[in-house]
Amino acid sequence: MNKRVRVSVQGIVQGVGFRPFVYRLATACHLTGWVMNTPSGVVLEVQGAAGEVRCFLADLQVQAPPLAAITAVQSEELPLAAGEGFVIRPSGGSGEAVQIAPDGDVCDDCLRELFDPADRRYRYPFINCTNCGPRYSIIRGVPYDRARTTMAGFAMCAACRTEYEDPGHRRFHAQPNACPDCGPQLRLLDGQGCEVAGEPLAAAIELLQAGRILAVKGLGGYHLAVDACNEVAVMELRRRKHRDQKPFALMAPDLATLTGYAECDSSAAKLLQGPERPIVLLPKRRPSPIAAQVAPDNGYFGIMLPCTPLHHLLLRDRFPALVLTSGNLADEPICYQDEDALQRLASVADFFLIHDREIHTRSDDSVIRVFRGQPVFLRRSRGYAPRPIGLPATQPSVLAVGAELKGAICLTRGGQAFLSQHLGDLQNAATLRSLEQTVDHLQNILQIRPQLVAHDLHPDYLSTTYAESLADLPRVAVQHHHAHLASCMAENALEGEVIGVICDGTGYGPDGTIWGGEFLVGGYERFERLGHLRPVPLPGGDAAVREPWRMALAYLYELFDDRVFELSLPCTAALAPSDRKLFLQMLQRRLNTPLTSSCGRLFDAVASLLGLRQKVAYEGQAAIALEALAETSPVTDHYPFSLTEVEGRLVLDVGDMLRVLVGEIRCDRPRAALARRFHNTLAVAASAVCETIRTTTGLERVVLSGGVFQNRLFSEGLCARLEEKGFQVFTQRLAPPNDGGLALGQAIIAGRSILCV
Ligand SMILES: [Zn+2]
Ligand SMILES: [Zn+2]
Ligand SMILES: [Zn+2]
Repeated sequence: MNKRVRVSVQGIVQGVGFRPFVYRLATACHLTGWVMNTPSGVVLEVQGAAGEVRCFLADLQVQAPPLAAITAVQSEELPLAAGEGFVIRPSGGSGEAVQIAPDGDVCDDCLRELFDPADRRYRYPFINCTNCGPRYSIIRGVPYDRARTTMAGFAMCAACRTEYEDPGHRRFHAQPNACPDCGPQLRLLDGQGCEVAGEPLAAAIELLQAGRILAVKGLGGYHLAVDACNEVAVMELRRRKHRDQKPFALMAPDLATLTGYAECDSSAAKLLQGPERPIVLLPKRRPSPIAAQVAPDNGYFGIMLPCTPLHHLLLRDRFPALVLTSGNLADEPICYQDEDALQRLASVADFFLIHDREIHTRSDDSVIRVFRGQPVFLRRSRGYAPRPIGLPATQPSVLAVGAELKGAICLTRGGQAFLSQHLGDLQNAATLRSLEQTVDHLQNILQIRPQLVAHDLHPDYLSTTYAESLADLPRVAVQHHHAHLASCMAENALEGEVIGVICDGTGYGPDGTIWGGEFLVGGYERFERLGHLRPVPLPGGDAAVREPWRMALAYLYELFDDRVFELSLPCTAALAPSDRKLFLQMLQRRLNTPLTSSCGRLFDAVASLLGLRQKVAYEGQAAIALEALAETSPVTDHYPFSLTEVEGRLVLDVGDMLRVLVGEIRCDRPRAALARRFHNTLAVAASAVCETIRTTTGLERVVLSGGVFQNRLFSEGLCARLEEKGFQVFTQRLAPPNDGGLALGQAIIAGRSILCV
């Protein structure tokens, strides 16, 4: 019995080889009909034996091309119609780009051709097809076709054009299609910008083997590369980049090689091998061929697999790993334009491996940690942006601009939120410019005209100032930790009200103090602060973030008054005797000491007390060291703490814990057990607060968000305890729990505020 159905497919289904895939599938199932792109996605009709149609519909989703991301499939039965064969029809409607695919790595078919001496693209670094290769980084405008990408200047040769026009070929309408005869070419330049003689790739490999530092143009920007096993070369890169301790990322040639120096379970392997090619944090193995200076004082390596054909060619059979760190200076955005890279990286790189396929939109590497077999984003960028996150309901279009650290913007359209690539810390003009460009570009390629702009409540953030400059858009200021709560709710498609445990660095509170260890109750429309860590002074404001001993002393001062310096602890030794009086005065007179309930700063204080770090080069460094130490201890007990009710709010006081902890430090107890007991205490205390809130509100659902949830040990401890008590626990998997995911929460809060009006 024959049957005809009409199917519409939504999601990322354009520019990813979806129509040729449908063509092949329909032909294989002996079906007639057609397929076409429309403004709302791909539409197709198939006709044939009922059983074959059923198979076709099943395979349509499970066998979809690797870069496709289907969000919805609708089908309806139609009366039978005449017609022969299956055809790809020209695009219908305005041809508006519905969604833009992120950049993808090389697919297996292209990889086979890359290393096949008989193939015409043998060792060609820019090989790609509809299933793989650059997308978001090369798109200038919409609709997505070659003329609106940075491939526009390359005219296809006859052989490439034949593939491009053949609906049965996997390069049918592959916009970046190229070959050695007609496509982009590699060049190797020295530090002065002069061409180096010889074959660029072979010469680059030789230079890396000789310990030289190369700037390599990748998919979303420049990396700085050096042989990861060469201690001297890695040290030299640190010296030139003025980067003392922050770990460098590694690229390994393949999975088998990286298991020689890192632990990799099946969920990590799956993430590493996905087309997104993120950096995944993996526990180190010892002994290891990797230079100690790659990630000093850190139990993990950040590792990715090759993300372009060029990287496969550089690494295969040559290096167990290359250091591949962002090509930028200090806090500036990553370099992505050739002239700029040659200038800005001149003091760091000896040579430049560049090419003439321009990068239109820069994006850093994504960074992931595995938690309970699932990813937690520390940074969501290349490979993921601008893939949408589904919202629980449709809403008016909103632009959200994030906060300050780990900047990322979010645009919504209908029921989808498009979170941008990572933009860096918004503390300089260059990063702000990058944010402005990203807003313009994403609005353009996604065809979104926002009706509202959402920003952080903090009046002095550059992102807030930027939002205020968009004079024609109404603004919504969103409290920082309310945005964290909403971000976690949104990606988990939650409605109604929940308990939010927000453990964070710093965020502006409506009462003028700095929040960061918060127990909120609420939803998108409103929130209430039902509990928090007891506020302590933040001595020296921002200086306290860079110098954890300041936080340790602030906590100790609350307990021991001006006898603090009699304790002779690592944190007291960090301050010269001549400066102590002044420091105590600052605390006594409350000068430059805003109050904070920050949870991140509590981690800093404990790391300082244990002598792990008195100064940090980046936010979170002390907490990372504390977690690594705690992971080596099996203790399960915890310290005392107290919960009191003040003006209707639960105040969590860790003074008793610190008093015991200080005693143990002075008795020289093993520090790992102390670090672990601290983690346990916080998990027990936070779950106790949730229980108390449940008795008064009846709420059973808890969302966990904020930068502290990058800490696996604490997350696991708290999740397990909450689940034991019967709570439903939700964490962030699609957006980062840190401020990189904040714009998503701002966007939905603002979107719902219009609906309420
Ligand atoms: Zn491919
Ligand atoms: Zn060609
Ligand atoms: Zn935050």
